[in-house]
Amino acid sequence: MRRRKLLWHLFPSYLLITVIAVTAVSWYSFDAVRRFYLEETAAALTARARLLEERARPLTGRSDADALDSLAKELGAAVSTRITVISPDGVVLADSEEDPAVMDNHGDRPEIVQALAGAVGRSSRYSYTLQTNMMYVAVPISSETGIAGVVRTAVPLTAVEEQLRAVRTRIALAALFLLVLSAAVSLAVSRRIARPLHQMQLGAERFAGGDFAHDVPVPRPTEFAGLAESMNRMAADLDARIRTVVQQKAEQEAVLASMSEGVVAIDREAKVITMNRAAAAMLRIDADAVRGRSVQELIRNVRFHEIATSVLEGGGPIEGEITLAGQQETVVEASGAPMRSGSGETVGAVIVLNDVTKLRRLERVRRDFVANVSHELRTPVTSIKGFVETLRDEVGGDGGNSARFLEIIIKHVDRLNAIIEDLLYLSRIEEDADHKGLVLESVSLFDVLSSAIGECRSVAEERGVDIRLTADRGLEARLNRQLFEHAVVNLLDNAIKYSSAGGEVEVGADCEGGGTVISVGDHGLGIAEEHQSRIFERFYQVDKGRSREMGGTGLGLSIAKHIIQAHDGSISVESSLKQGSTFSIHIPDTSSS
Ligand code: ADP
Repeated sequence: MRRRKLLWHLFPSYLLITVIAVTAVSWYSFDAVRRFYLEETAAALTARARLLEERARPLTGRSDADALDSLAKELGAAVSTRITVISPDGVVLADSEEDPAVMDNHGDRPEIVQALAGAVGRSSRYSYTLQTNMMYVAVPISSETGIAGVVRTAVPLTAVEEQLRAVRTRIALAALFLLVLSAAVSLAVSRRIARPLHQMQLGAERFAGGDFAHDVPVPRPTEFAGLAESMNRMAADLDARIRTVVQQKAEQEAVLASMSEGVVAIDREAKVITMNRAAAAMLRIDADAVRGRSVQELIRNVRFHEIATSVLEGGGPIEGEITLAGQQETVVEASGAPMRSGSGETVGAVIVLNDVTKLRRLERVRRDFVANVSHELRTPVTSIKGFVETLRDEVGGDGGNSARFLEIIIKHVDRLNAIIEDLLYLSRIEEDADHKGLVLESVSLFDVLSSAIGECRSVAEERGVDIRLTADRGLEARLNRQLFEHAVVNLLDNAIKYSSAGGEVEVGADCEGGGTVISVGDHGLGIAEEHQSRIFERFYQVDKGRSREMGGTGLGLSIAKHIIQAHDGSISVESSLKQGSTFSIHIPDTSSS
C-alpha cells in the first residue's frame, strides 16, 4: 500500500467535511430564501386580486364586459400586474395585457380550476401569451348566486428569478469564502497535529541510528507529551544499556587479546563468533577475517573439527591434542566446552587452545636424556656386575667382610640394573605411544590375566600368597597384549609384595559402562590417603627403605600408568591402611573404532 503523510490523511478529510457542510447550508439557505420570495410574491398577488374582486363583482355580467376590461387595463397598468377576469365557464371577460376576444378559454388553467372550486388558486408556469415564466393567483368573485367569476393576478417571475440569482451568487461567494477559510484552517490544524508526530519520527530515527544526544521535543497535547517523554526515557535507558554492553565488550576483548591462550567461540552451525589473536596466531589465520565463517572453511585440522563437533553434539567438555603442520610443527592442547543459554540449551562452544610445543619438546629432550643415560649406564653396570660376581666367586663364601661387601655391591648393582631396565622400558612405551601408536589386537582377558598370574606365581608361592582369578572366559578386549600383561604383572607384583604371608590377592575382569574394568586387590599393607595421588609418579615410594628392601624401583606403577594411558584407559586406586588396596584399570571399548 502506498504510504502518505499524516497531513494528507487529515487535511482531505477535514476539507471533505467542510465542503459537505458548506454546500448543505448554502443549499438550505438558498432554498429558504427562494421559498420566502415566492411566498411573498404570491401573498402580494392574492392581496391585489382580493382588492379587485370588490371592484369587479358588479361588472361580471356580459353586458359590462367593456367596462370590466377597461378597469383591468387601468388597474393592471397602475400596479404593474397582469389582471384577468374570467367567467365561471372559462371565458376571458377582461385582461390588462390582451384583447379578451382573442384569448382562448381559461377554464382548464390549474389556478382557475382551484378558484372555481372556491379556494385561492395558484400556479407558476410559462405563459405562451406573454412568452415568459409567470406566477398566477386566482381568487373567486363570490356573489349571492355563487361564484360569479374569477379574478386572476399575475406577475412575471423574471424579477423574482433575478433577485434569487443575485442571492444565490452572494450565498455561493460566502460559501466559497468559507471553504477557502476552512481549508486554510484545516491545513493549519492538520499541520499542528502532524508536526509533533513528525518530530517524534525524526527523533526515533535518530535513536535507531544510535544518536541519543538530542531529546525529542515535548509537544503540548497530553497524549503527545506522554509519548515523547516515554521515548526520551526509553532512549536514555537504551543509551545506558548500550554503553554498558560496549564497555563489557571492550573489557572482554581486552581480556581475550591479552590472553596467551587461544580462545575460539563458535555458534551452533560451527561458525566463528569470536577468535582472539593468540588463537589466530596458533591456527595461522587472520583474526580480522574470521567472524561468521565456518571452522571447516577456516581451520584445516581434522582433530579440531572433531573436538568442535563433539562439544556441539554431546555438550560435554572435551580435551585433545592437536598437531598443526606448518614450517614448524605446533602442538596445541585444546579444551572444548559448550556455551549454554539461560535455559540450558547448547548455543555454541568455546575452545581454549594452549600452545604446548615447547613443553612437548622439553619432555622429549628429558625423555631422550633419560633413555640415553639409561642406555649408556647399561654397559658399565653390566660390566661392574660381571666383575663383582667374578670377585665374589674368587673370594668365596668365607671371605668375611669382603664377601659381605661384594654381596651388597651386587644387590645395589641389581637394583641399578632394575632401575635402568624400567627407565628404558618407560621410554620405549612413551616413544611407541607418541609416534607409532600401539598395535592393538583382540585378546581374551582371561588368557592375559592367567599369563600375568603365571609370571608371578613363583614369587607368590615364595611369600605364601594365594592369587585368585575371577573373569569370564569369553571376555575380550583390544589390547597390546605384551604391554598390558606387563602392567598387570607390575600391579600383581606390588599386591604380593605388600601382602602379609598367607594373604590373598584377587584379580578380576568385568564389563562396565561401555568398557572393561580389570582389578587387582589385596588385603595387605594399604596406602595412606595422602600418598594415593602420588604413587603413580616416577620414583615415588611410600616407605623408601622398605620398598628398596623388597627390590622396588619406584617405577612399577608409573610404567603401569603409562601403558594404560597408551590404551586411552585410566588407572585408579582405592585403599585404606592395613585393610588392603584395590587397583582398577578402565579400558574404553575401542572395538567400534
Ligand atoms: P615400587 O617398585 O616401590 O613398588 P611402585 O611404583 O610399584 O614402586 O609403587 C609405588 C609405591 O606405591 C610403592 O613404593 C608402595 O609404597 C606403594 N604401593 C604400590 N602398590 C601397593 C600395594 N598393593 N599395597 C601397598 N602399597 C603399595
